[in-house]
Amino acid sequence: MSAYIALVPAAGSGSRFGAPSPKQYLQLLGKPLMWHTLSVLAAVPAMTRVVVVISPEDDWFDSFDWDIPKLEVLRVGGSSRAASVHNGLAALAAAGEDWVLVHDAARCCLTVAMVERLIARVADDEIGGLLALPVADTVKRATADGHVSKTIPREGLWLAQTPQMFRCAQLLRALKNGVEAAITDEASAIEMLGLQPRLVEGEAQNFKVTYPADLALARAILAAGKEG
Ligand code: C5P
Repeated sequence: MSAYIALVPAAGSGSRFGAPSPKQYLQLLGKPLMWHTLSVLAAVPAMTRVVVVISPEDDWFDSFDWDIPKLEVLRVGGSSRAASVHNGLAALAAAGEDWVLVHDAARCCLTVAMVERLIARVADDEIGGLLALPVADTVKRATADGHVSKTIPREGLWLAQTPQMFRCAQLLRALKNGVEAAITDEASAIEMLGLQPRLVEGEAQNFKVTYPADLALARAILAAGKEG
């Protein structure tokens, strides 16, 4: 039987956030933001390993008490997200047919139910798949000076989220090209092989904490979840 391995790239500097510490270490309900992410992945019964990829220069990780079952840390982060995932996969020592679920450290409002939905829909798929959201708003393309140049029909458009779930060996192969091509998610690397990952409906609350205002929203969602 294939194993399910969570791989969490967390080697970003969070430059868009503008905080003194990388955003994955910002405090959220008394824990680093990434603690919430890793705890959810570890709480999925099917998940065999939870592997976080941090930068070799990371001085923050060891200063926190993680206390999360199944957690392993790899200090092999690279200069881009794709490089961090590639290096993590190369260091995993997993079987080629094992599933890897790559998930952004900064998507801390993920739930066990979302991960289980992805696994249930993708475990029989030949290629793999990802959580994503159908676009609900009207989409505009902008001119360089911030005016509307065009309205893009939203039909058939989805916003990619994570986890993104693929076979270990195939994703590693795909990312060897993807690192060069400056891709921003794993599905893009698989698409470059001419393959079509399956889209599985995610949820709006699975957003990526990117700007300071996002932190208050994440705090409210996590606090509401704890109240039950
Ligand atoms: O910058 P962005 O929010 O798109 O990053 C998405 C995820 O990729 C984050 O969890 C971030 O820590 C990670 N990342 C990484 N290595 C990099 C850049 C980003 O692991 N060099």
